[in-house]
Amino acid sequence: MDRQQEFVLRTLEERDIRFVRLWFTDVLGFLKSVAVAPAELEGAFSEGIGFDGSAIEGYSRVYESDMVAKPDPATFQVLPWQTPSGDHYSARMFCDIAMPDGSPSWADPRHVLRRVLSKASEAGFTCYVHPEMEFFLLRDLPADGREPEPADIGGYFDQASHETATHFRRLAIEALEAMGISVEFSHHEAAPGQQEIDLRYADALTMADNVMTFRYVVKEVAITQGVRASFMPKPFTDQPGSAMHTHVSLFEGDRNAFYDAEDPYELSATGKAFVAGLLKHAREISAITNQWVNSYKRLIVGGEAPTAVCWGHANRSALVRVPMYSPGKASSRRVEIRSLDSACNPYLAYSVILAAGLKGVQEGYELPPAAEDDVWSLTDQERRAAGYAHLPQNLGEALAEMENSELLAEALGEHVFDFFLRNKQREWDGYRRSVTPYELRNLLPVL
Ligand code: GLU
Ligand code: MG
Ligand code: MG
Repeated sequence: MDRQQEFVLRTLEERDIRFVRLWFTDVLGFLKSVAVAPAELEGAFSEGIGFDGSAIEGYSRVYESDMVAKPDPATFQVLPWQTPSGDHYSARMFCDIAMPDGSPSWADPRHVLRRVLSKASEAGFTCYVHPEMEFFLLRDLPADGREPEPADIGGYFDQASHETATHFRRLAIEALEAMGISVEFSHHEAAPGQQEIDLRYADALTMADNVMTFRYVVKEVAITQGVRASFMPKPFTDQPGSAMHTHVSLFEGDRNAFYDAEDPYELSATGKAFVAGLLKHAREISAITNQWVNSYKRLIVGGEAPTAVCWGHANRSALVRVPMYSPGKASSRRVEIRSLDSACNPYLAYSVILAAGLKGVQEGYELPPAAEDDVWSLTDQERRAAGYAHLPQNLGEALAEMENSELLAEALGEHVFDFFLRNKQREWDGYRRSVTPYELRNLLPVL
């Protein structure tokens, strides 16, 4: 048993923890949990915990369904609230998923990301990311097609106390920090009920785990405050949606490989080639970074969301932005990708972003000139003349791009690639055939 495992067992005893939840993520990004008693943990560390993989979205076919969850002791955290009886705490650990023969499961999004990260590391890079998490606080989550009611009437950066959820952000941040997730900023976002909490950077695998924890913690804290949290990309027709802007940098040892003091954007050749990779493969990776039919309702002109494939410096209408908050500070040179939404699978989204960026670096892609004008105000013709492709406008278009992508097949592995395409094609077909309230409202009365 190694030292981390010993630490876990000792903490369980010292804190009198009765349940350890073993967490993992399905291919669509839903958190899964199996609770074990502390006495089972020594065995779980050595042999893992068996489960029926065929019952997990995207994991396996029925005839090869035995799978094993192996807890990663580096992710051990005590949950910040007590069990309902009020006298014990539970803890959680993320798991890596293995096949019965011990080999890693290709269906495990954590494995997909680990593999892309090990390729980055073969090329000498460590990847750091931090997300800006946007989401809505709502009074309820109606499932009958009604628009939900926001929990407050605040707007961008508002400090005023807003009805129900006054203390929500403070409580959520306390809970996150108690679980080892550092928060940099938080504020009210533009739409009523919309919140943003920005996490402090971490390596990409840790951050993907953190995003999963974040969504869980935020939903739990919301319930304690009598409201509900939703990471749906675009719950309101007439309000902006929820993004998960993602800041990325590559380090070579202690040196930020994206930094170059001499460049006007302080962006190195590596940084430029990385951005070029993001742009060149932007349409292919959309299905993963924006995976729901609803995701594409957000990517429209007028919600501060990107629609065109271009990059810029302070330009919030661009897909990739090179922010200049702290000029001259090498460690904070990074690029911000603005397409991702808060309902993506963070492991897969980070995998495809990195794969696209690294491809740019490895093949020496050339970065097109920056877009310094407001891309949202250009006509389609002007955009075409400027050479900006548009992001896919719906899930169907995104899937058609993904289907032909060698980059994605390689980054995700055959299993996830095939499952994802099949699953999402079904979602798209189901959506396409349903007659919407929009049509009933606008067409039925006149046709
Ligand atoms: N909520 C906006 C979006 O959907 C982003 C707002 C911002 O720039 O922070 O992309
Ligand atoms: Mg924001
Ligand atoms: Mg941002």
